[in-house]
Amino acid sequence: MSTSSFSQRLDQILKRMAVAAASVGRSVDDVTLIGVSKRKPIEDMQLAYSAGLRHFGENRAQEVRDKFAAFSPENITRHFIGHLQSNKVKYLPGRVDIIHTVDSTNIADQIDQKFGEHGLRIAVLVEVNISGESSKEGVGPEQAFSLASYCLEKPNLEFKGLMTIGPLTDDQTIIRQSFRHMRLLNDDIGQQLGLDKAGLILSMGMSGDFEIAIEEGASHIRVGTALFGEREY
Ligand SMILES: *Cc1c(COP(=O)(O)O)cnc(C)c1O
Repeated sequence: MSTSSFSQRLDQILKRMAVAAASVGRSVDDVTLIGVSKRKPIEDMQLAYSAGLRHFGENRAQEVRDKFAAFSPENITRHFIGHLQSNKVKYLPGRVDIIHTVDSTNIADQIDQKFGEHGLRIAVLVEVNISGESSKEGVGPEQAFSLASYCLEKPNLEFKGLMTIGPLTDDQTIIRQSFRHMRLLNDDIGQQLGLDKAGLILSMGMSGDFEIAIEEGASHIRVGTALFGEREY
């Protein structure tokens, strides 16, 4: 991809974000765009950085280990957004700044331990399977509070909010309902745990549904294809 075509795509997404935010009276400055660079070469990430992108998302631990060793400009934020197996957590300390996908006490323990061994604390989100689709990772909405509380008590985890992947459907009403449910759940959990509302993160919305997510209160959207182009695998 050339620099100009990347800048154009980025511009278009930022414009669409602004329109979605304005439609519900939100400031687009309150929404963070995470560019999901998974399966894309480091050259594309550099291009994205030159165009102004500062948040990068990856979903495989080994890819994180390899890419963020080679691509580590200052002032980027590195997001881990994939399903995490406990034997892969060791690749992440020092290579990511936030993990979106805590979905069990076991993985919370592993992250706490491995980051602690490096003298690090790490921001985490609890992944919620809001649609109940069996193909999806994440805890059910009724378990989110207890897992969030569990994370909050771990010395090396900083619980920041919730993450979800929207339902796999073209029905915008269903997508919107799921995102709305997530927003209520996140606010409720944040309040019950006494967290500062301004620091609360709600990670939802991808290439196909980020505008709905913004309208329903996402603080972070994760956009891959619309920004970096189709993935080959
Ligand atoms: C790949 C991925 C994305 C980005 O998906 P696109 O549809 O390409 O925008 C967002 N979130 C997660 C968890 C992903 O794995």
